[in-house]
Amino acid sequence: MLPKNTANNIPQNIINKLKESKNIIILPHVSVDGDALGSSLALALALKKAGKNVRVYFEEEIPQVFTFLPGKEFILKYSNFNEDSSKMSKAETVVALDTGDLERLGNRVEIFNNSENKINIDHHPTNTYFAEINYVNPKAAATCEIVYELIKAIDIELDNDIALCLYTGILTDTGGFKFGNTTSITHLIVSELLNYQLDIPTISYRIFDAVSKEKLKLIGKAINTIELHEDGKLALATVTKKMLEETGALDEDTEGIINYVRNINGVEIAALFKEKEDLEIKVSLRSKSYADVAEIALKHNGGGHKNAAGCTINAPLGEAKKIIFDDLIKAINTHKS
Ligand code: AMP
Ligand code: MN
Ligand code: MN
Repeated sequence: MLPKNTANNIPQNIINKLKESKNIIILPHVSVDGDALGSSLALALALKKAGKNVRVYFEEEIPQVFTFLPGKEFILKYSNFNEDSSKMSKAETVVALDTGDLERLGNRVEIFNNSENKINIDHHPTNTYFAEINYVNPKAAATCEIVYELIKAIDIELDNDIALCLYTGILTDTGGFKFGNTTSITHLIVSELLNYQLDIPTISYRIFDAVSKEKLKLIGKAINTIELHEDGKLALATVTKKMLEETGALDEDTEGIINYVRNINGVEIAALFKEKEDLEIKVSLRSKSYADVAEIALKHNGGGHKNAAGCTINAPLGEAKKIIFDDLIKAINTHKS
């Protein structure tokens, strides 16, 4: 059990709403990651145990790297929303997880808006409190930490499958317990999860180490694009559509490339410009210590955390770099006390 007053304090109205509801839809953010997926599947598995009718709607395919997770029976693609045989289009309750703002729900915002009760559970400090009931805890390393507490608060027993989903989300959002968001609470929660059957070496290998030839070639190309500015404190890198075509790598293979850029000695801010479409550039931002990249992302309609954030700029690649460049330089040269 976690020490009192240090754990997340799940508001009673969230507990009540979930207990009262029969039909529940869970929505993770677009470009789903380990935390959004893990928290969604863990909550779905738990609510199912409590006799609820649960669906998790996704905008896109589940990334290959996470296909080992349990709970596939709850997953539906948004494109099939209108054919959902259980007629849950008017779910009583919808829960957005790990989602900082409504835009991060993509087209599924329609499901959110049409539901009777709207709940937002998240850990992004940039969260816009877009629901009727909001619980945002920026001290939580991952939304999975909050969902762990929620499952306990509703009095549902953990099991191997739920533990695997929660562990995966915590592992990914803390970068394998290496990022500054890792706390003693993180370790307390994980120490309980480890009482379940988790194949730690296999999970770690799949998430952090396994790599296809195609991805490795893409990493090589991306590393070749690195430019350094401001005495090596700012590093920029690029992944173009052409690079994906040439290497045969998947879109999800760009995950993690930013870490090579960030890890260069002397770099404070790393920015990866990923060309999704000709006029759609996804920018991933990372900082090592003092620079607040969430502030930069927020200015460009994105969001995130102080040391890891992102946004999308609708302009050609070269333009996108110019649009954000001054803000990057400014952040490098701003030392808040
Ligand atoms: P990424 O660079 O995609 O790995 O994202 C880093 C962090 O920023 C994560 O916490 C994301 O949830 C958040 N983030 C990324 N893109 C956006 C966006 N367009 N809007 C809000 N938050 C974002
Ligand atoms: Mn996320
Ligand atoms: Mn998260």
